[in-house]
Amino acid sequence: MIATTAIDTASRAPGGLRAVGPDAWHDDVETLPRERLAALQLERLRATVARAQAQVPLHRERLRAAGVASDDLRELADVAQLPFTVKTDLRDHYPFGLFALPVHELARLHASSGTTGKPTVVGYTRGDLDTWANLMARTLHCAGARRGDIVHNAYGYGLFTGGLGMHYGAERLGAVVVPMSGGATERQIQLIVDFRARVLCATPSYALAIAEVAEQQGIDLRSGALQVGLFGAEPWSEAMRHEIEARLGLRAIDNYGLSEIMGPGVAVECERQCGLHGWEDHFLFEVIDPDSGRPLPEGEAGELVITTLTKQALPMLRYRTRDITRLTTERCDCGRTHLRFLRVTGRNDDMLIVRGVNVFPSQIEAVLIGRPHLAPHYLLVLERRGSLDHVTLEVEAAFGLAAGEYDNLGRDVAHHVKAMVGITVDVRVLPPGAIARSQGKAVRVRDLRPKER
Ligand SMILES: [Zn+2]
Repeated sequence: MIATTAIDTASRAPGGLRAVGPDAWHDDVETLPRERLAALQLERLRATVARAQAQVPLHRERLRAAGVASDDLRELADVAQLPFTVKTDLRDHYPFGLFALPVHELARLHASSGTTGKPTVVGYTRGDLDTWANLMARTLHCAGARRGDIVHNAYGYGLFTGGLGMHYGAERLGAVVVPMSGGATERQIQLIVDFRARVLCATPSYALAIAEVAEQQGIDLRSGALQVGLFGAEPWSEAMRHEIEARLGLRAIDNYGLSEIMGPGVAVECERQCGLHGWEDHFLFEVIDPDSGRPLPEGEAGELVITTLTKQALPMLRYRTRDITRLTTERCDCGRTHLRFLRVTGRNDDMLIVRGVNVFPSQIEAVLIGRPHLAPHYLLVLERRGSLDHVTLEVEAAFGLAAGEYDNLGRDVAHHVKAMVGITVDVRVLPPGAIARSQGKAVRVRDLRPKER
């Protein structure tokens, strides 16, 4: 058995990271041989299941029904015997029913508003907050942030986990945080320039909004100090990455997290930008067939399922993220041994079925971004006309395109969407600035179809 504390950098030293220099990722735990990582995961999985069984009635009942206990877990693959947890479990046990500790023993609550009904509430002990700050510091470091960097944090502060998650991670790293939150874009740009921010944290759509406003003001952010962008909290395409990198003059790094599991800091790309390293010392990742629920072999695309391995307040067993991805344990050039998953470009919930064709908004985005004479903003409007789905794609002309050219542009876009995505859309080309800009998570779809599908 491995002594957990001996290899867990999170608990080794004040500040969590040994040294923050160019090579500080040579943190033992990020380069741990995979057999030792697996042994650590199994030990922590058993402890998590035992805790959930003892302290959370829902998990106790489901484990009993499945006829499995923590002692039955002999190897990591045995995780497949455990029951799943889904988002509605949190709502059904609102607000604190899945917590493993009485709420007065916690240190913080976060919540996300659902589109319908009750919010999803998550809780953290002081220990959980400490782990989260360490994981976010590792995440920022993995992305290229360093001690002493000015980190401009445009993620929303408040109940959303993005703002505070980044904030405490950046402080833990030894960076200098500007707690900007979203909105007031012109002021954001002034502070990015005046403070010489090297790192920008935002949703990808808001990063693009910042770039656009700066261009309108005649400010060239590409010639400033920005070098690293951490973008996440909404799906985005490779085309969007290139657009952001070109317009802000930085390396755009994808990071992944969800509040039900912790918040940001669950997985992040390294500077190679070839998949996101999931922090396996704290989370167990699986990919399953979303229909049958069966685990899929490495490399096959399916739904990402995550089990927390160290969470105290809210242990999560086999949480179904609804995100579609593929895993690989192939060694990354950066030297880290933790598995990678492909960038998440679609969530099951985001998938639209249009006249029987499965469509992710990110597929539409990939057609639009970088196309001449188009601004990178769009909205899909779905309606039912008679018995058929009808899709209107609202796009925006770039500055300088004559209004007389809009019809041609619209036909060109419709042709490419049909060719590359396989659906027929009516394209409405709008003048520059006509589509509402996101200050947080972008709204890409307005589905006006009757709900009883
Ligand atoms: Zn790597």
